[in-house]
This record gives sequence, structure tokens and C-alpha cells, in this order.
Amino acid sequence: MKRYLFLPQAACAFFALCSFGFAATKEIDLKRDVRTAKAVVMGDVDRVYSYYGEDGEIYSDVTLRIGATLKQGPEAPSSLSFTAPGGEVGDVGVLFSTAPHFDAGEPVLVFLDEAANGSLVATAKYAMNQGRVAEFDLSLLELLLQIRQELREIDQPIRDSEWERSSSFLSRTLLRVGRLSASGEISRNLGTPQCYAFMGPKWRTSAVTYKLDASLPANFLPAIASSVASWNTAGTPLRLNVNPFSANVISLGYIAGSGILGQTRVSYIPSTQTIVSFNLVFNRSFTWGTADETNKFDVQSVGTHEFGHSIGLDHPSDSSCSEQTMWASAAMGELKKRSIEAGDTAGILSVYGAVAAPSAPPPSTPVPPPSAPSTPGQAPPTPSFGAMSISGVMASSQPITLQATGTNFVTTSLQFVIRGAGCATSGCVITTPSLQGLSATSATAVFVPRGGGAFTVTLRNSSVGTQSDSAFRFTVAVVQRR
Ligand SMILES: [Zn+2]
Repeated sequence: MKRYLFLPQAACAFFALCSFGFAATKEIDLKRDVRTAKAVVMGDVDRVYSYYGEDGEIYSDVTLRIGATLKQGPEAPSSLSFTAPGGEVGDVGVLFSTAPHFDAGEPVLVFLDEAANGSLVATAKYAMNQGRVAEFDLSLLELLLQIRQELREIDQPIRDSEWERSSSFLSRTLLRVGRLSASGEISRNLGTPQCYAFMGPKWRTSAVTYKLDASLPANFLPAIASSVASWNTAGTPLRLNVNPFSANVISLGYIAGSGILGQTRVSYIPSTQTIVSFNLVFNRSFTWGTADETNKFDVQSVGTHEFGHSIGLDHPSDSSCSEQTMWASAAMGELKKRSIEAGDTAGILSVYGAVAAPSAPPPSTPVPPPSAPSTPGQAPPTPSFGAMSISGVMASSQPITLQATGTNFVTTSLQFVIRGAGCATSGCVITTPSLQGLSATSATAVFVPRGGGAFTVTLRNSSVGTQSDSAFRFTVAVVQRR
């Protein structure tokens, strides 16, 4: 089974379109990329070999059968090898949102840089089995012409023989993949594109946690919580919750490579395509803001995009999808990616499924209409808490699933209040966006106790609502660190 069927045929970087104060355009990004690249080549991916590097990270060595060399690296080679971060070794897979992924057999146009050790590293990849290159909204031929123009401007023109080879490689490739019409024109698929794409693997649990690293400034935290809430309220059972013991770390740090605002590294089990962890980094090289500031990049916008990667979404590749939050680029001062759009929602729903519609309460039970909204100034009803079922390993730092049934649950504001070790006197509060399967009569919360001992759970409708009369009690064992 081919795993990356849905991988977008595009370079996978969340690029800043507008950095260092210039009103930059996509063409200027191409200009920069052509100038900074050590080599620009096209060809067919011959072989991909993945291994652990000395730093413990997985890398892939990619061998390309050269179709043509646009910008000179090594002297007219017939094949060329370069490195790309990520890959699969045994039952461990790693994907980076900012690094291109290569499959054997695919025709590509690749931008290469030189690493400190002298080896070539792929910085961008454009698939040549598509009619158009979405990032630039250009046909492949138009992109080649533009690269040729940029190379002329920096006095490194493509040699005539290589230009001929590149044209014939493009024609052969497009013929092979059926993108060249009989008239010789490059045909464009005019069907309505799906404005979402997948990295491949997904979470096999609905309770995903993340930890906020100390490197994050305080003003990032509410913005990050809002980013997460966008995905938690998309209508699927999947929930991302803060947990100080989580292995999935959100941080502010430096990312190599020009124009990269944020990067998400996803590791997964190749045999089951199951995501097991992720790390999300905001690039410290940029100026970040959380208010509507035209000269800063918005934490919440970039956060929402990067969290989309953390759950397995990739960049949509059709240029008509540029208003989606998972679109690969963002501009300074842009706030539109704070929310998720129709394509993003369709993407998460197709991976994780929709939450089942709330079941109707039993007809014999007199209950108020479900999800009666709480209006300001009027106290919400007090939930009545009938039963609680509990599952999980009853030990500190282990997730415990608490499923409550009862009546009077307000689906827009229900909260679980848990008291015990590691919770302040006001309790550990699990709010509505983090609850699963929420209906007027049932709700499920995932709680990770930070210590051992006795815990009690009560329910309330909103933070000002009255807590349920009954409380559920459970005990957790302390697990010693070894
Ligand atoms: Zn991205």
C-alpha cells in the first residue's frame, strides 16, 4: 500500500510571505530561493534510504536520476544524492512540516542547499506530476521560465543543453502522468479540489496532550489555548489538552531555513500509521504578537496552523485553497488563520470522524430542553449527576477517562471540577471544549492526575454555576519516578 497518496505535491514549509518589513510577494520568495540555492535540479527519485543520524534524528538520503540541472551543483552528473530530514527506520517514522518528503519513482524539481558538512540538503520540492505549482500559481513551464529569468539576473544562466534537457524532461514527465493534452497544452484539472491534505499518519486516541515549554512568553499561552480550541471544537472526538507531563512539547526556539515561521515534527509508527508524539516550535527569529498588530506575526494564527500538523493535516496543494488555515504560507499581521475554515474542518472530520449527535434523553425522564444556553445575569441550571464510569490506569501521570451521566448538562458550558493532589483549592477544571461526547445527559472528560490519593469530581454548568450535589470519588496510586 502506498502510504503517501495524499501527501500534497508541494514544498512543506510554513513560509513567511512578508518578513523583515518588506511587502514581499510569492515571486520574491522564488527569487530568494533561486538565489540562495546551492543547486536546482529536476529528475526522478531513484532511491530513498532512511537512517538515524549522529544527533539521534532520522534522515533520508535521496538519490535522484537527473533530468536536467538548472542551477549548477556538481558538474553535469547523471545522478545526485542529497539529504532530507525525516523518514522511516524500522517501526519509527518522522515527518517535519517544514521539510519535503520524497517517494521513490516520483518526478521532482528540487532546491538544494549545502549543509555544514558539505552534503546537499533539500530545502524545497515541487512535484512534477501536477499540472501546476500551487505555491506560485504557475504552470510547471511558467515556473521553469521564471527560474531561468532569475538565474539570468544573477548571471548564472542555465546552459542551453540543460534548458533543452529540462524542457524534454518536463514533456516526458507530463506525458507519462497524463497531464499533457493532445494539443500539447498543459491541461489543468478543473474539478473542485478538496482543500485539505494529510501527512499520512493519525492519532489513534481521542485524548492528545501537549506541554507548554518554559521558553514560551506568558502572552503566548492564551493565544495557544485559543489555537487548540479551534480544533477541539471542530466537531470530532479528538481533544488536545495541556498536561505538564506530556512528551509533546510546544516551544519558542530557532529553526534553520529562511522564512520558516513555525515547524511541527511528528513521529509515528509506520506499520500502523499511528502518530505517537509531536513537537511544535515557533521561530524565535520573528517578531510575535497576540493583538491585531500589522508588524508582527500572530501567535494564534500560526499556532492554529501548526496544531493542524500535529494532528496529521498537511498543506492543501491547489491554489484555490489559499484562504484555508492549512495553506502553506502566512503574512505579517494576518489573523485569518486563527479560525479554521471549511476545508480544514472537512479535513479533520474525514480523519477523525464526527462526534455522534447527542442522544435524546429517555422519554420517561422529565428534563429541560437539551443545551439550554446560559444567558448572562441568569444562573445556569445545576447539573444533576447520576453516575460516573471510570477507566484507565489509576496511577499518577496516567490519563483517566471519566464518563458522567445525569441530567441538566448544558452542552455549551458544562465543566468537570476535580479536587485532589496537584489541583488548587478551586479544583482542576476541565472545560467544555475539552469534553467529549457532550449531550444533555452525558459527557466524558480525560484527566491526568499530577499526584496520588483521593480525588472528588463534581459537575457545574459554567464557572459561575452551582456544583452538582453529588460527587464522585476515586483514588489514584502514586507512581515513583525511576
Ligand atoms: Zn505548515
